[in-house]
Formats: sequence, structure tokens, C-alpha cells
Amino acid sequence: MIPGGPTLIPCEACGQQVSFQAPACPHCGHPVTPWWRGRQVFLWRQHHGLPISTSRAMPAWQIVLLVTGCVGAFSGLMVLMASLDKSSSGSSRSQEREEPTVPSHLKPRTAIDAWVMAQTFVKRGLKAPSTADFGSVFSGDHQKPDEVCKRNAGSDETWTCSGWVDAQNAFGAQVRNHFVITLTYQRDSAETWRSDGPIFADQ
Ligand SMILES: [Zn+2]
Repeated sequence: MIPGGPTLIPCEACGQQVSFQAPACPHCGHPVTPWWRGRQVFLWRQHHGLPISTSRAMPAWQIVLLVTGCVGAFSGLMVLMASLDKSSSGSSRSQEREEPTVPSHLKPRTAIDAWVMAQTFVKRGLKAPSTADFGSVFSGDHQKPDEVCKRNAGSDETWTCSGWVDAQNAFGAQVRNHFVITLTYQRDSAETWRSDGPIFADQ
């Protein structure tokens, strides 16, 4: 029994008096939910001019608002932290992975690096490199670098990219070529990326 609360509350369904502790209404069988009990305590204490204990008498909609607000504030904070992390190059997260003093050519390559280089190698294997089109965000057929290029298992700097390129063939027709290309980043080489070139699936 909650001190300073009602001993009898109205049933949510039929309105008849029900024991505060009853799990269900003895008249109509309607369950007495925790929310309904809390609501009755809130109203009872409000009616008697007693302080409202938020832990017991907060209506469900207030709890929902509070939780939603907390979740919203938390996710907002996470977004803010993520954007701060991106904007500041010398942040704590990047310091964990690599020393700030490491020259850029010694840093690990990304899927974007591999994809940019893969496109260069693929163009070399085309009849008309200037007509090459790898898609774009704006045309709606964007090839995402981290989906197209995967770092080979057991190798830190060899990548395999599997994508497509639209380009003119020997007959001047713009056709789509699917390709696979493996390329390796060589840290101590003057020519930093090496590849045997693309394998075209459509030829
Ligand atoms: Zn009832």
C-alpha cells in the first residue's frame, strides 16, 4: 500500500470502486494496470493537496516524454561528438589509431584511396578512357567505395575492387563493363600503387 494514496480506485472500464491492490476489477474483470494505479495516486494526491511524488505518480505520457527527451538529447550529443571528431584532425580517436607525426604516405589506405586508384587503372584498360563513367551521387547510380573495394584478408594494403564502368567500346557505343581489379599500395615505392590491371567480365 502506498502511504498517502487511495485504498479504493475507480475501475478504468466500468468506473466501480476497486481495491488499489487488486490485479483486476472484481465487477467486470478489466485489469488494473500500473499506469492506471499511478494515475489514480496522482489524482488522489492532487485532490488532497499533497506533494506529487514523481517516481510513483508520474503519468505514463510524462514518462514517455521524459524518455524521448533523454534519448533525443543523447543522440544529439552523439551526433555533435561525431561531428567534432571529424572536424578536428588531432582528436583523441585518431590519436589512438596513429601518431599525428606519421607522414601521409605511411598512413593506412582507405577504400576511397583504393577506389580512386582502381578507376585510374581501369581507364588505362579502356579503348576510350575519356568516355569512362563510374557513376556519381548525382546520377543516382553511385558506387560506394567501401562496398566496391575490400581490403584482402591477411594483407593490410592489397585491395580488390569489383565495380563497373560505362565507356565507349571499339564501335563507339557506350556500354557497361563489369570489372575486378586487385591493387596493392607500396609504401616505399615511388609509384605508390601497383596493379596488373582490370579483368573485364563483359569482354
Ligand atoms: Zn470494472
